[in-house]
Amino acid sequence: MNHYDFIVIGAGVIGTSVAHHLATLGAGSVLVIDRGLIGTGTTSQSSGLLRTHYSVRQNVELARSSWWAFNNFAEYVGDEEASCGLVKSGYMIVSPEGDKLDALRSSLEAQREMGIEVRMPSREEARELMPIAQFDDAALIGYEPEAGFADAYLVATAFARSARRRGVTVKEGVNVTGLLREGRRVVGVTTSAGDFSCGTLISTQNIWTPELESWTGVTLPVKPERHTVLALECNEAPYTFTMPAFKDLGSPGMLYYRSYGGKQMLVSEGVVGETLSSPETEQGDISLDYVGEVGEQVAERFPAYETAGLASSWTGVYDVTPDWNPVLGPVGDIEGLVVGFGFSGHGFKLSPGIGKILAQHALGLPTDVSLTPYALERFASGALLVGKYGSGAVS
Ligand SMILES: Cc1cc2nc3c(=O)[nH]c(=O)nc-3n(C[C@H](O)[C@H](O)[C@H](O)COP(=O)(O)OP(=O)(O)OC[C@H]3O[C@@H](n4cnc5c(N)ncnc54)[C@H](O)[C@@H]3O)c2cc1C
Repeated sequence: MNHYDFIVIGAGVIGTSVAHHLATLGAGSVLVIDRGLIGTGTTSQSSGLLRTHYSVRQNVELARSSWWAFNNFAEYVGDEEASCGLVKSGYMIVSPEGDKLDALRSSLEAQREMGIEVRMPSREEARELMPIAQFDDAALIGYEPEAGFADAYLVATAFARSARRRGVTVKEGVNVTGLLREGRRVVGVTTSAGDFSCGTLISTQNIWTPELESWTGVTLPVKPERHTVLALECNEAPYTFTMPAFKDLGSPGMLYYRSYGGKQMLVSEGVVGETLSSPETEQGDISLDYVGEVGEQVAERFPAYETAGLASSWTGVYDVTPDWNPVLGPVGDIEGLVVGFGFSGHGFKLSPGIGKILAQHALGLPTDVSLTPYALERFASGALLVGKYGSGAVS
């Protein structure tokens, strides 16, 4: 049986980031296994927004270190040809009077205290930055210039390439079917290509994490939730690359937006989606009624979009935990096993930082950001990592 010091299940943006960081931190032999192709799980469905705005402080820290990685991507992965497709558009978040206002104010202040450049523009200033939006109801506007969006598939493939260059083996088209155990210790995996032994197993299986639950018998609270993304086109008011990504806390769907291709508008809801009975990434139905409901909210904020056309639409699946934050670290008293799942629709922007701290933890090194708040035990102890905005990917 082939032996590796570390085996990573899943070659999404999280698993490939773990592999890249294991390799750069000097891990021994590393194997990454995916039943599909690199980055073709939920990573390929990401809207790609990057911001440090969070109401959970640890997320801000991870997002800040991750932003540095995206903003200096070729240097970060040590490959001058690497690109993450970054569009540095900035990020604007708007709240009317009401229940989200205090959360926005305190989150912006906390970001500032952490040294992050955050502005609170007036309505007039906001209009200059985002001329296609109206701000009549805006009680508070936040603006982060160091933010934007990037391409999650490019990032996953770049992390994988970097890992391979540093000696990591990546096996695509191989299905992990179970664990090899010696008492409380995980010592390897069974797969469609035979058994592999390892010192430490890292599962980054996203919506397929329930498989690990069945292999370990430990409850891992995560459910697959389908979300819809629309691309709208409005010739009178194109959403250009210079306009910020945008979050509307005043809309019922807590909609988020970004430019799509330099002209169209990508829009999606930031609230609870459709729970699926089993993990799969198949495209779901998108009804015209739903498009109408979202379209009405869009037109409230972007009046010219009342007559916009639907250019395209698709669905993607989030791995949602009860508090909409990930689970990072060990699983109960099982030795040799580390997990990273439950990214609840906001894992891409954290992926460099999360890959690094999972790799540090697996290597027994101090972690840049504490894993304790992200521990699985929080669901039993009640110390949930609930964001001030409630359920939703803004967290
Ligand atoms: C519609 C949508 C929009 C999003 N927008 C944003 C955004 O704007 N900003 C942001 O930060 N985040 C966003 N996200 C979230 C972000 O994209 C995800 O958190 C991130 O891509 C998850 O990466 P992952 O590696 O955990 O999962 P995945 O990419 O799903 O990778 C998991 C991999 O594990 C493999 N696997 C699982 N089980 C096995 C097994 N038994 N054997 C072999 N292989 C296995 C799968 O094949 C898969 O490739 C969005 C997500 C969606 C769906």
